[in-house]
Amino acid sequence: MTSKAAAKMHSSTPETIALREDVINYARDRMALDPAPLDGPQTLKFLQKHASGTISEKGLGGKKALKVFEEVLAPACISTDHPGYLSFIPVAPTKAATLFDLVVSATSVYGGSWLEGSGAVFAENEVLAWLAKEVGLPKTAGGVFVQGGSLGNLSALVTARHTAIQERKKQGQKLPKRWSIIASKESHSSLKAAARVMDIDVAIADVDTDGRLRGKAVLEAAKKIKDGLFAVVATSGTTNFGIVDRLDEVGSAAKKLGVWYHIDGAYGLAGILDPASEHLFKGTEKADSFIVDPHKWLFTPFDCCALVYRKPALAAAAHTQHGEYLDTLTDGGDYNPSDYAYNLTRRARGLPLWFSLATYGVKAYRAAIAENIKLAHQIADVIRDRPDLKLVREPELSIVVFEKQGWKLKDYEAWSDRILKQELGFVVPSSHNGKPNARFAIVNPRTDLQLLVRLLDSMDEGK
Ligand SMILES: *Cc1c(COP(=O)(O)O)cnc(C)c1O
Repeated sequence: MTSKAAAKMHSSTPETIALREDVINYARDRMALDPAPLDGPQTLKFLQKHASGTISEKGLGGKKALKVFEEVLAPACISTDHPGYLSFIPVAPTKAATLFDLVVSATSVYGGSWLEGSGAVFAENEVLAWLAKEVGLPKTAGGVFVQGGSLGNLSALVTARHTAIQERKKQGQKLPKRWSIIASKESHSSLKAAARVMDIDVAIADVDTDGRLRGKAVLEAAKKIKDGLFAVVATSGTTNFGIVDRLDEVGSAAKKLGVWYHIDGAYGLAGILDPASEHLFKGTEKADSFIVDPHKWLFTPFDCCALVYRKPALAAAAHTQHGEYLDTLTDGGDYNPSDYAYNLTRRARGLPLWFSLATYGVKAYRAAIAENIKLAHQIADVIRDRPDLKLVREPELSIVVFEKQGWKLKDYEAWSDRILKQELGFVVPSSHNGKPNARFAIVNPRTDLQLLVRLLDSMDEGK
């Protein structure tokens, strides 16, 4: 018989049933808001005053706990799916993807092994196979959905280095004193973070006047590395500007150097789905591995990064964890997602994307991404026409960066605070070469031209 304490938490008692309805109603109401309030951060002092003391021996009861979340905690979190949220890289999950995220929790699916989660793993792999096909990798490609692009980049580079070590050993070569990778000046901070974890060096290659990494710059950077170069990383859609490196040239350079070619497409690789932008991504088919974050531009809730390898067996060789209690999994030859990255226990976080793609079809995704890109170019036209505004770079994908004449950082900050307070938008200042600017990152199909123009207008309003 279930103890009273366990029944209170794990059985369908009248109390837990009532709580289920309350929580589902809350989720339903939040999803029905169009849009949800933008909300904003609170001070620690405020939250201490209004939301302290929730953890006690006895518990508050679900109703009270939910009330604290609804009335105090949730409004202290910015709605990252708000159409006016344009900072960093926003998130814009489809209705189907958000709903299915609830299902992933409700079903307690384990996504780490085939033995436990074959159905989920199969569906996730269908999505990875589709992505691999779009990118031009062979049918034998495969990988895993990990927490985010940072972990995806790290896991890919660990695989690349492990492969390089194995090759050198096989050929009886000495291992280098230091290992290194080449990445561009515009590449993402997560590469340097991965390098710190791996204790390797990053050789920074110059970009051209458009901010793009080219093959020649890769070869130049390689000349300065004595030994130990094992990977070249291209960025397909820099986070600052949405500029795509010359993927074909960089891929050829990596091949010439005989090293791994990784494409960091966390934000922008989704742009390959827009038929009008596909040409920018020529050369993706040369990649040994790539990442793309569905929580950025494939309309999936946090947190979700697709990591795909040309030869997944190389990743399994680098990452598979062995242990007495795991041998039953690893000895079987099944496809265990945990083996393809630095992770073990994992949520089947690819399922919301699977369900959303299965629901709406790829064509709807192509259209939504194409619209974001079109909107970026439309607002760039408006900016170009305003004498007091200046584009820092011509947009390529869906990021637009511009300066306002005479504005210092504090002007951008004051404007940013003001529009957040008005719940108009969330646009934090950014900078380029030490000069402050404003940056719109557009990945939400509910963001429209009218709102963006309104935000430009608001720069001239009451200070
Ligand atoms: C966002 C981003 C990352 C890091 O991804 P997370 O999911 O935030 O860990 C890596 N590379 C690029 C190009 C990005 O835009």
